Amino acid sequence: MRKKIVAGNWKMNLDHQQGVSLFSEIVNMAKDEVMGSQQVVVCSPFIHLHSIAQLAKGTPQVAIGAQNIYFQESGAYTGEISATQVKSTGAAYVILGHSERRAYFHEDDELLSKKVDAALKHGLIPIFCIGETQEERESGRYFEVIRQQLDKGIFHLSNDAFSQVVLAYEPVWAIGTGLTASPEQAQEVHAFIRNEVAAKYTQEIADSATILYGGSCNPKNAPDLFAQPDIDGGLIGGASLKSRDFIDIVK
Ligand code: PGA
Repeated sequence: MRKKIVAGNWKMNLDHQQGVSLFSEIVNMAKDEVMGSQQVVVCSPFIHLHSIAQLAKGTPQVAIGAQNIYFQESGAYTGEISATQVKSTGAAYVILGHSERRAYFHEDDELLSKKVDAALKHGLIPIFCIGETQEERESGRYFEVIRQQLDKGIFHLSNDAFSQVVLAYEPVWAIGTGLTASPEQAQEVHAFIRNEVAAKYTQEIADSATILYGGSCNPKNAPDLFAQPDIDGGLIGGASLKSRDFIDIVK
């Protein structure tokens, strides 16, 4: 049984009050409208985590996540936030390896693998992002790029640890651009990722791995994307900032 997840990534948007109001709308809609076993996750900036975790109490279908952590547990790392600190707010998930962090903050596979370890050690579920740039797609190297991101960032985990991770395929050329991978393009890569997981771990672990699609997902294109056999939900940026759109994608 594969867990279905729709996760919102608010990125660096919304002041504290705006985040609290948007989240309240999401929780209310989820209570009334979300039927079934899919998990909703809202990944907010750090400033919102504690407040929205309080609002989510009693609504287990909605969980909270952060968008980053540092791998050290505590100490003199000015400006950084640890897994334990995030966990103490009530958050359950953390996005790691998002292409914006890889590109603008130079997070490489080695650093990401340490962040993954720190998250799992302290009970946070990593939503680990992988995906190719436009140039890597056009040159036909995308499978190679994705294989390397998996190998170096996450395939050091044991079977048990890997089983807790959520993967997200996010083609960089589709993020925030309005260009979505077609359902066929996304399915091709999701099937490839699942095969890589089966080769590294076991078929059983691959069959139960949750692999999300992200990149200009909206209420219109979500049904066709999520109908693909290897797509288990989405990681939603822009459309997660509107409660109606976000809940429609979940539904
Ligand atoms: P987008 O972002 O939905 O705005 O393309 C997705 C993401 O970056 O996770």
